[in-house]
Amino acid sequence: MTDHTSDARVEFVVETNVPTDHGVFRFRGYRDLLTGADHLAVLSAKSLGERPLVRVHSECLTGEAFGSRKCECGPQLQAALDRINRDGGAVIYLRGHEGRGIGLLEKLRAYRLQEEGLDTVDANRALGHGDDEREYGAAAAILHDIGAMQVRLLTNNPGKRRDLEAHGIEVVALEPLIVGENAVNQGYLETKRDRMGHLLPDSL
Ligand SMILES: [Zn+2]
Repeated sequence: MTDHTSDARVEFVVETNVPTDHGVFRFRGYRDLLTGADHLAVLSAKSLGERPLVRVHSECLTGEAFGSRKCECGPQLQAALDRINRDGGAVIYLRGHEGRGIGLLEKLRAYRLQEEGLDTVDANRALGHGDDEREYGAAAAILHDIGAMQVRLLTNNPGKRRDLEAHGIEVVALEPLIVGENAVNQGYLETKRDRMGHLLPDSL
């Protein structure tokens, strides 16, 4: 742990303890010097140890604050917090990642198109967006700051591993995080599996 970030991508601002339904965590707040977004490193009370379990999680207001059943972000965040509380680890919570990086209002526009039958990929494309516009440079800088250069990554998304490794983080293992499937989001998860290469079971 360092008091100063060693990567110019983020600036460490503050650390404080936050008791939650999932345990008491240390919240470290960072400012993203490239995008202006605020990000969090949520650290377990249990020490990170070597090769800690890490969830790099993209903000999803609809799923996390409102319990939207169109995605599985809320259950994934809750499961990740339970897991790191139990086993030790960190959740890197990235703001500005709503809708795979297109923003809240564009995500709602994509949802509107999905009501007309487009899947999540085609809806984003119809709005002139990429399939996934997120990048993980800030997450890598935060992991560097907390001394987690080698991680076990809690994700179903191999693209996240590639991007983190491109930013100098070694992902020694991928651990699946398959929670939150429901009747509404089944097609969405199938699209992420079949068109985006996410590691999800054949039958959802
Ligand atoms: Zn979501």
